[in-house]
This record gives sequence, structure tokens and C-alpha cells, in this order.
Amino acid sequence: MTELNIGVLSVQGDVAENLSSTQDALKELGQEGIVHAVKIPEQIAELAGLIIPGGESTMIGQLSLINGSLKQIKEKIEAGMPVLGICAGLILLSKEAKDRVVGETDQPLLDLLDVQVERNSFGRQQDSFEVEISMDSINIPKFNGVFIRAPSIVEVGDNVETVSKFNEKIVAVKQNNMLGTAFHPELTSDVSLHKYFVNMIQSKEN
Ligand code: GLN
Repeated sequence: MTELNIGVLSVQGDVAENLSSTQDALKELGQEGIVHAVKIPEQIAELAGLIIPGGESTMIGQLSLINGSLKQIKEKIEAGMPVLGICAGLILLSKEAKDRVVGETDQPLLDLLDVQVERNSFGRQQDSFEVEISMDSINIPKFNGVFIRAPSIVEVGDNVETVSKFNEKIVAVKQNNMLGTAFHPELTSDVSLHKYFVNMIQSKEN
């Protein structure tokens, strides 16, 4: 069995929670692998899969641009490496991002996932909330969606599969090796989504 080398981009945001959920997912699957925080292009070059966590997309983008990680991540994803983008990570993967209030933001993006996202899409009263969602197409019928100043996906390209919707808004998508969620799977004890992602990496490696 291949030992999977999985990284969590560690610039800012929910790094520790994703390390822990991925470790649990590997254990539950009986899959060998290491999961570690990655920061620099040399570490990213070695990865079989990457999680870009939730946090602040402008900050994660700017800092990754400056140290060359953004370019390395883009090359790896283009070469087929599976990536899970969560909340700010989803925003970074996208081709276009607008803020619900301020509109166009001139922030660095990976420009790979063929979607337009609306940042802070759920407004003020509902800045943060939890709601049960379903992801039937990836065999996760029930999941606790934790939304924190979450984006939503307002436009999807032809190659993008809608994985989940809440209140008519698209909140999870998949396009080939890229999986993106507006909610935070690392903040619930259910590691189904992390297991799904580990399986994506595993099937790519074999
Ligand atoms: N609102 C944040 C952004 O635009 C994302 C929030 C999150 O990742 N929890 O980057």
C-alpha cells in the first residue's frame, strides 16, 4: 500500500483541525499516510494531496504568492494532484471571486476551479451557523455543515459538478481533482468528507 503524503497549507487558518481530521480519516480507512503542515514550495512539490484550509483568503493568497507557494500549488493541481479547498481555500481555487458587499476584490487566486464565488455570501445575521446538508453525489447523505463567514458559488462552468446546495445556494463542488466546500468539515467530529478526499488521493496514486 502506498504511503500517502498529504499536506495542509499552513499560512493562516484552520490548520490544526485539518491535520487532526485527516489523521482520523487515514486511521478509519486503514490507509497508510503522513499528514503535515506545509509552507514552502519544496514541501508542496512532494505532496500527493493538499488541503487549503479556511481562514482569510486574501491573507493566505498574498503570503503564498510572496513565497512562491501559490505557483507551485497551481502547477501541482494542473498536473493532477487532488486538492480540497475549504471556505477561504475554495475562494483561492476559484477563477473569480467577488465580495457580497464590496464587489470585486483584487486578490490573488489560483484561477483553476471554473466557478465564480461570492465571499461572505450569507450576510451579517447569519455570519456563522450550522445546518444539516447532503452530498448525495459523493455518498455522504447527511453532514453537519459549519458555515463561518462562508462564501457561496454563484456560477459554475460545464465541467463542475454541484455536490451540495443550501437555501438554493451552491455550497460544495467538484471538478476533476478539485473538491471545494463553503463549510468547514474539519470542525465536526464526522470525518466523512476527509475520508472521501483521502480516497481521491489514494485512487490517483494507484
Ligand atoms: N470570509 C473569508 C474569506 O473571504 C472566508 C471565511 C472562512 O474561511 N471561514 O476569506
